[in-house]
Amino acid sequence: MTMEYRTEFLERIERTHTSVSYRFKMPEVLNFTAGQYMLVDLGNELAHPLSLSNCPKEAKFIEFTKRMTGSSYCDRLESLGGGETISVKGPFGKFCLTDSSEPLVLIAGGIGITPIRSILSCLEKNKGNIGTVILIYGNLNREDIAFRNELENLKIPDYHLVHVLLDTTGMGNAYQGFINADIISKEVPKSTNAHYMVSGPPVMVEAIKKALATIDVTEDQIRTDIFLGYN
Ligand SMILES: Cc1cc2nc3c(=O)[nH]c(=O)nc-3n(C[C@H](O)[C@H](O)[C@H](O)COP(=O)(O)OP(=O)(O)OC[C@H]3O[C@@H](n4cnc5c(N)ncnc54)[C@H](O)[C@@H]3O)c2cc1C
Repeated sequence: MTMEYRTEFLERIERTHTSVSYRFKMPEVLNFTAGQYMLVDLGNELAHPLSLSNCPKEAKFIEFTKRMTGSSYCDRLESLGGGETISVKGPFGKFCLTDSSEPLVLIAGGIGITPIRSILSCLEKNKGNIGTVILIYGNLNREDIAFRNELENLKIPDYHLVHVLLDTTGMGNAYQGFINADIISKEVPKSTNAHYMVSGPPVMVEAIKKALATIDVTEDQIRTDIFLGYN
């Protein structure tokens, strides 16, 4: 059964010039797992699925991070005032970690970072026995990298972040272009058991699946989260 909750708007946090996080009070009985999403209903037929971008251990709030597109939905988000309530349904989705010590390769395209940020934030908080974690994060340029400071400073023992940018100005350590098979094979140690989690717009997820197939990653090694609604 799908659960629905009313929740109170708490605060807005600008992540980049094109992405903003919105925090709402954690509904008392809501349980979610990092990587899941909810249907965020702002009224007047403005409802979109949005991934929870924070870790469920941050028990006081839930957070969604939206790419700003100038849509009516974004306008409504921007108009939210303190104490205003909205409706959220869910949580939904299986883009979640499985118990495994195999290398974990997270691949995000732009705003596709949201469920992955939730997962990484939980991995950092859990301080458990985690194996190698590699994040390959694609963006247009350095100004577009949401959560950059946090992701570059995560305290996860064997964690490695790879930036891939179309425009690498000011980012000498980044690959130039789109995430591709070459970059993945250079950055991921050869392992037939690595788990891949890929999140982003449909075109990007399809391209990465094709790239992974060319380097012999099988479909059962890959989990995807497809952000319908973006080109
Ligand atoms: C599982 C999931 C998780 C997502 N998580 C995030 C997130 O964390 N952050 C984020 O910014 N976006 C996320 N999205 C995308 C988000 O739901 C919106 O589709 C997207 O942000 C476009 O909405 P908009 O308000 O910018 O533009 P709009 O003008 O509302 O939509 C742009 C176009 O896409 C179409 N469209 C919108 N939503 C959908 C949909 N769900 N399915 C098919 N077509 C659609 C519209 O009809 C319109 O033509 C997620 C999508 C899915 C499916």
